[in-house]
Amino acid sequence: MSYKIAIDGPSSAGKSTLAKMLAKELGYVYIDTGAMYRAIGLYLINNTIDIHNENDVVSVLDKIDVTLDYDKENNLHVYLNGEDISNKIRTQEVGEAASVCSQYLKVREKLVSLQRKLAEEKSCCMDGRDIASNVLPNANLKLYVTASEECRAKRRYLEEKEKGIDTTIEKVLEELKARDYRDMNREHNPLVKVSDAIEFDTTDLTPDEAVDAILSRFF
Ligand code: C5P
Repeated sequence: MSYKIAIDGPSSAGKSTLAKMLAKELGYVYIDTGAMYRAIGLYLINNTIDIHNENDVVSVLDKIDVTLDYDKENNLHVYLNGEDISNKIRTQEVGEAASVCSQYLKVREKLVSLQRKLAEEKSCCMDGRDIASNVLPNANLKLYVTASEECRAKRRYLEEKEKGIDTTIEKVLEELKARDYRDMNREHNPLVKVSDAIEFDTTDLTPDEAVDAILSRFF
């Protein structure tokens, strides 16, 4: 029987790191749903589609093929129309485009059906915003991962600095708050903590400590 772990939470709370590491430890498949929305965001940017115009976005959805694959080391790669775009989607601009287009029902329907298919009959660790509430409501373990706003902004700031992006903690914090607000207040499948999810705060934990805490508590 397959075992499903659903991980939701706001931006930069540590979801992806935790999901990836847990999947590795447990020998499960890691499914990064944010990367799929980012792939659509990248397509829209590359093709100068107005992300704020829902009709324009929906009209090109049939031209967008998003797939996930894993290399020999089991690292996840994201493909957009056959091209590996894994290294192109981790920018503020793509994250913003992903967050805007993920509000549209047709975009969500396209990706959610793909996500469910990817999780079929496999033990997996899936992270995103609507995994426990919508994609995998029967998941065996539902985690709602959080961290303080300051901590999340600092993590994002350090990531951007490492990539050579010139920014400030204040700017990052502002962007983070705007994105979380949009993700939590949209009409379709907003980010929520479902009643049977376990809240897990990573503020004072290193990634290893977070994984150890989950493994020792639930496995
Ligand atoms: O997690 P990540 O920052 O890569 O996600 C990018 C954006 O994609 C999020 O801000 C959110 O708007 C959207 N998303 C979503 N549902 C998911 C995963 C991501 O709406 N399951």
